[in-house]
Amino acid sequence: MNWLLPRFLAGAVAMAVGGGLGHVLGEMAHAPLVGLWLGTLVGASAVALVDAVRGYRLMRWLSGALEGSAPRDTGFWGEMGYRIERAVVARDRTLSREQGRLAHFLSAIEASPNGVLLLDENDQIEWCNSVAADHFGLDPVRDKRQRVTNLVRAPAFVSYLQAGAFEQAVTIPDLRNRGTLSVYIRPYGDGLKLVLSLDITERERSEGMRRDFVANVSHEIRTPLTVLSGFIETMSNLPLTEVERRRVLTLMGQQTQRMQTLVADLLTLAQLEGSPRPPSDRWVAVSKLFGQAQADATALSMGRHQLSFAGADAAQLAGSESELMSAVGNLVTNAVRYTPEGGRIAVNWRIRDDGAGEVSVSDTGPGIAREHLPRLTERFYRVDGSRSRDTGGTGLGLSIVKHVVQRHGGELDIHSEIGKGSRFCLVLPAARVRFLEPAPDPRRAAPLLNDQTMSSN
Ligand code: ADP
Repeated sequence: MNWLLPRFLAGAVAMAVGGGLGHVLGEMAHAPLVGLWLGTLVGASAVALVDAVRGYRLMRWLSGALEGSAPRDTGFWGEMGYRIERAVVARDRTLSREQGRLAHFLSAIEASPNGVLLLDENDQIEWCNSVAADHFGLDPVRDKRQRVTNLVRAPAFVSYLQAGAFEQAVTIPDLRNRGTLSVYIRPYGDGLKLVLSLDITERERSEGMRRDFVANVSHEIRTPLTVLSGFIETMSNLPLTEVERRRVLTLMGQQTQRMQTLVADLLTLAQLEGSPRPPSDRWVAVSKLFGQAQADATALSMGRHQLSFAGADAAQLAGSESELMSAVGNLVTNAVRYTPEGGRIAVNWRIRDDGAGEVSVSDTGPGIAREHLPRLTERFYRVDGSRSRDTGGTGLGLSIVKHVVQRHGGELDIHSEIGKGSRFCLVLPAARVRFLEPAPDPRRAAPLLNDQTMSSN
């Protein structure tokens, strides 16, 4: 109230001075009382005029953008301007602090791997993060205030939103990215909704793979088991001659062997998945890998194929000996199993131009149609199921090879054409290759026997 007394005094002084002057002038005109009153009125009007000017200035500042400081007047208007200015500054400070907090909060939600969408009480979009925008195909700016069901038209989502029973999530297709989304709605506040979306494409895919895997394993085991139980029934119910008994026992042995191979392959896969990456400082001679593979191939082929192994020389590979043996062994035994009698199988080692080491296994077998190539390394994928089973295949060989080579940082290249044979190349990075003697010049590497084989076809 420190403005009240000066203001009162200023008014009183103005009126006194006005009244005094009016009185003096009024005496000259023989009307001192009229002069006194008029003078007082003029004094009061002068104070009111000053007030009006100051009030106008303050009003002008208030009705503007409230930028800068309020008019610096003395007295009532000055005090009022100062107080309003202080309130405005405090409000601006609070506002910018709150805006900072909001931005901080929104950027935290923005960083979420899940989609977040805020809906108002009319299911209109208030805000969404970029993940939700991507999941639902929305534009965070353009689609604000749009009704969500006009933009997200998946029937499952629309009926979920309309039913209002949000205890469970709903699964909808993510049309943009060709995947699957799991969407939850959580009501909050007064009719507002928080929509959370989660990309479950990968989860669904691995769940599907797991289901397929279990179904495949069950199928693979059930078949020999059915055969075995049939034989057991035959042996227990029918009197068999010695010859028949031997035949049945041989067939039972084959089925048992089939199951054993399957279990062994499954265990190998499980081991590959669960064990640490192969060492990069344990060296295996390529000639040793070739020696083992040659022994396996010779035993399996029993002289029905022409086999050749070349180029291993002094090369060594860093990694797990048993895994590399199993990978090369699988490729070589496949070549023997699928190549008809009289065919040729060539196993070569060479250094590629980029320094990577390559073990290639080529055959003059039937070849594989182009459409099968991308799926060959899938578990239980077979081009010719009966041929695979007849020759003791489990459908897991190439997936084991792929696993091994990937664990060693390499890749499996497959080249094949119907009627022109196949070439499977196990490629390991240069860092996993070394030579006990100076490295051979790649341009002078041993000629690819498999190329010769292929061209001779
Ligand atoms: P399998 O135990 O059935 O041989 P693999 O995973 O080793 O399983 O191979 C998958 C499929 O690829 C085989 O069923 C076969 O159809 C095809 N395949 C593999 N190697 C060859 C090859 N050298 N020549 C022709 N087809 C092959």
